[in-house]
Amino acid sequence: MVGYGRVGSHIGDGLRQQNIPYLVIEDRADVVKQLRARGIEVFFGNAAAPELIAAANLPQAKTLFVAIPESFEAGQIVEQARKGNPSLEIIARAHSDAEKDNLDRLGANYTVMGEREIAQGMMDYAMKKPA
Ligand code: AMP
Repeated sequence: MVGYGRVGSHIGDGLRQQNIPYLVIEDRADVVKQLRARGIEVFFGNAAAPELIAAANLPQAKTLFVAIPESFEAGQIVEQARKGNPSLEIIARAHSDAEKDNLDRLGANYTVMGEREIAQGMMDYAMKKPA
């Protein structure tokens, strides 16, 4: 998993609940320290750096979550990961339709457009309320 913030931490909780092992790549030192204190395996640095993504041993991975908000870096990560493992399931995060299209084009299997999901959640709630 790349990025352990508002999005990645929820994914981590879900994986842990299901006893699915995972490795985090995170570039904030304070977050890395907290994760290590909790016994979570983590690499410190920018996941877009080729040496870091190579160290993550993606050929052995089943799924990659790219849970960072910066689209350009996410694209670099997705592109390298796809080259490193053609059968890897890559799930990415975007904040516009153009970002989503770009991440899909670079090799993501599934890209979630955050704002659309938020809108859908708000509509779902509103439509369930009696008038
Ligand atoms: P959030 O936007 O709250 O989901 O947080 C995103 C998390 O991803 C933060 O903890 C960032 O430090 C981390 N992050 C953002 N870009 C990168 C990157 N290129 N490599 C590793 N971690 C990143």
